[in-house]
Amino acid sequence: MGWLDGYVALVTGGGSGIGRAVVRRFLAEGCRGVGVMVRSAEQAADLLEEFGEQVVVSRGDVRSGADNQRAVELTLERWGRLDTLVGNAGVWDFFTRLEKMSLEELDAGFDEIFGVNVKGYALAARAAAAALRESRGSMIFTLSNSAFYAGGGGPLYVASKHAGLGLIRQLAYEFAPEVRVNGVAPGGTVTPLRGPESLGKQERRLSEIPNFQENVAASMPLQLIAQPEDHAGHYVLLASRENSRATTAAVIQSDGGWEIRPI
Ligand code: NAD
Repeated sequence: MGWLDGYVALVTGGGSGIGRAVVRRFLAEGCRGVGVMVRSAEQAADLLEEFGEQVVVSRGDVRSGADNQRAVELTLERWGRLDTLVGNAGVWDFFTRLEKMSLEELDAGFDEIFGVNVKGYALAARAAAAALRESRGSMIFTLSNSAFYAGGGGPLYVASKHAGLGLIRQLAYEFAPEVRVNGVAPGGTVTPLRGPESLGKQERRLSEIPNFQENVAASMPLQLIAQPEDHAGHYVLLASRENSRATTAAVIQSDGGWEIRPI
């Protein structure tokens, strides 16, 4: 018996990193199936190879309402219900400070980072809303330590993740009592999180930053660098009606203890 026996979920950005670990863990917890929204054909093929008929994969851009709608529809067509939406696709700004950006870069970078990290979550929520109200399901969004503290990115990323926190609170308010809306806020994690095209950083990957793992571990009270799997259990807990029936508008911080970092 798993904690999510018979559930159907949809995960955006589930082709790699934290989203992929959530897909794997949800299936291990008994999910009947998981819809996965990905960007690239490689990720789609790779998911089908690992999970086969247990996933329905749609390719798209989370900044598009129509692409989010299609991901929901494909999931409903296959399994007839939706219990959990995990909004997770994101881009990071590689610590790009305000004055390091030209006005043009700031303009375009804002649209790209807020487009993926905030608008993408709002569109996914809108597309999944009716099905989740019907199933009395829940939404879970991936935030970051950057939803609470400065210094985990530049102003665009940090502001976008603070905005994600506001979105969770407002949606929890609007969707109660039918749908619970919560978040998970990881800290530094070994993933291929990429940078924005508008800042010319689309080929850069977080985990390839020199000494990334050592530096993150050294700055955390728990002295660790997380792997994507380290966060997955929090999504299971928040998705489970039995185990978090009374929890909405909450965010589980999974960041090695940023709150108690020595100054
Ligand atoms: P990741 O790059 O492995 O996952 C992000 C996924 O989003 C990728 O599969 C990517 O293809 C997808 N994506 C990006 N833009 C998209 C778009 N426009 N349309 C559709 N899909 C798109 O990296 P990750 O670290 O697993 O990131 C997942 C979430 O975790 C993000 O929201 C990120 O901000 C958050 N996060 C990551 C860390 C970390 O240190 N890795 C820390 C805190 C929060």
